[in-house]
Amino acid sequence: RAKSNGRNNFQFYTKEMNATTGERLSLENDLWHAMTNNELFLVYQPQIDFRDGSVIGMEALIRWQHPKRGLISPMEFIPMAECNGLIIPIGIWVLETACKHNLQLQKEGLPPIRVAVNLSARQIGDKDFVDTVRAVIEATGLDPSYLELEVTESMVMHNVEEVVVILNSLNEMGIQLSLDDFGTGFSSLAYLKRFPIDRLKIDQSFIFNCDSDQGDAIIAQTIIALAHGLKIKVIAEGIEKQEHFSFLKENGCDEGQGYFISRPLAFKDLRELLIARLNPH
Ligand code: C2E
Ligand code: MG
Ligand code: MG
Ligand code: MG
Repeated sequence: RAKSNGRNNFQFYTKEMNATTGERLSLENDLWHAMTNNELFLVYQPQIDFRDGSVIGMEALIRWQHPKRGLISPMEFIPMAECNGLIIPIGIWVLETACKHNLQLQKEGLPPIRVAVNLSARQIGDKDFVDTVRAVIEATGLDPSYLELEVTESMVMHNVEEVVVILNSLNEMGIQLSLDDFGTGFSSLAYLKRFPIDRLKIDQSFIFNCDSDQGDAIIAQTIIALAHGLKIKVIAEGIEKQEHFSFLKENGCDEGQGYFISRPLAFKDLRELLIARLNPH
């Protein structure tokens, strides 16, 4: 198409391309320094129990405060970090930080809650992964039952035999495991039965219209029934409205998270929210 648009357009096109590639390379280069420069931080989204509305967990979500470009989404830099391997040190930093923060809340006397940490395929594939997790648990002193690791279907369906071994080791350590974005990947119900999963996370795409779209409503109800049939918990993400909340509560969903309940919060704001809930006026 560039060619048929004439010479000037063609030059313009290549310049644009170079700029984009250059930008990506410089962002990738910046990512190498982001950790040492303290530009990465975690925000935490509260997760509630539908039975009584209490906060029973929080999901750690990474953010990058770039000195020149401002806040960068994990959707932009996590794939980059997976490509160049930086996800390994970043992933360890996320795990350590999340465990430390969660332990800090417990030490302050707040009712203990889980912290959920997202994993990427490359981390699970790393031969030292289980030992790393064990080392972080030992170093921080967090009771492993208050740590949850989130994996996605696409991550676990690749090398099923190896992944089963890894997930079993984590499960034996007492860590909780959840299957994130459930329903969007190549879900294999046969494999699902073999994984020691504690929780299914209904993907937010089924939640956004669960109050108005019959198909989404049925998918959400079916995932809830599937989880309960397998004797595991089910959590919904992307609860943005009262209607979503009511639908899920009425349909027996165990837990939920979403902007309607709370946006992801800075650690100090999460801490204040928990304290406020403990001492209602
Ligand atoms: P995810 O694990 O499925 O996280 C849910 C995403 O939905 C988060 O986006 C969250 O901020 C957003 N969200 C929460 N409630 C609502 C809602 O009510 N409505 C809408 N529209 N969105 C909502 P975020 O923080 O941008 O993270 C995007 C993805 O990046 C995550 O999806 C996860 O796959 C990945 N990610 C985030 N942090 C980490 C990390 O520390 N390590 C790894 N490997 N991946 C991470
Ligand atoms: Mg997640
Ligand atoms: Mg378990
Ligand atoms: Mg998700």
